[in-house]
Amino acid sequence: MARKTLIAGNWKMNETYGEAVVLAQEISNGFYDDWVETVDVVVCPPYIDLKPVKTVFEFDKRKVGLSAQNVYWEASGAFTGEISVPMLKEVGCAWCIVGHSERRTLFGETNEDVNKKAKALLAGGLAPIVCVGESLAVRDDGTYLAYVKAQVEAAFAGIDEADARRSVVAYEPIWAIGTGRTATPEQAQEVCAAIRETLAGLYGAEAADAMRVLYGGSMNEGNAALLLAEADIDGGLIGGASLKAASFIQIVKEAL
Ligand code: PEP
Repeated sequence: MARKTLIAGNWKMNETYGEAVVLAQEISNGFYDDWVETVDVVVCPPYIDLKPVKTVFEFDKRKVGLSAQNVYWEASGAFTGEISVPMLKEVGCAWCIVGHSERRTLFGETNEDVNKKAKALLAGGLAPIVCVGESLAVRDDGTYLAYVKAQVEAAFAGIDEADARRSVVAYEPIWAIGTGRTATPEQAQEVCAAIRETLAGLYGAEAADAMRVLYGGSMNEGNAALLLAEADIDGGLIGGASLKAASFIQIVKEAL
């Protein structure tokens, strides 16, 4: 089945409010509206930049989706420093990354947290971009397929098929994130296919076939075409290269 390509730029903790406006404007200036027929383009700025970035795209009538990088599962209350699904919704987010490896390794996010966040997002009408991926040690000991399978199963525990279909999985091997060491198309395809097989085990082949599986990890304008040509890679989650409008735009062009 034909799955629409999704290119998402994860800005991480980069771009002040003013810088974010400039970057969004540069992306908007290089964006062609008819691209949206073949590719969904999404940016994931820091929380504080969501509103100004939204305003830039809205003013220019660009259909660039807005995603947060994290969320808390409670709707409101005494959770100092956290941001909820209703808050993201009101600011115009349709997407949210959950389980990014930096959240898992630096901030102790567990599979259970990822599951709660995904459920809260889906209940609020937002689509989670669920990140999974193994460390170099797990890759080297050869258990990476089982490791990623377990992460996917944990993330989707208790999520029904209709909600799963609205979700996206991003395979991001930790050894490839921000390291310049991209997975080869074959390595990325192997795991993305295993993720789809895992989803098929949970929801059936038809649902799995409809769901998007992205690759992330040092994707750039030079390697995107080969990665995106793989059968089970339906797009990219891009960190570093999404901070340069020209690179990000070029990756979108490679996806057309
Ligand atoms: C990411 O943070 O999701 C990512 C893939 O980063 P980079 O492209 O910089 O490796």
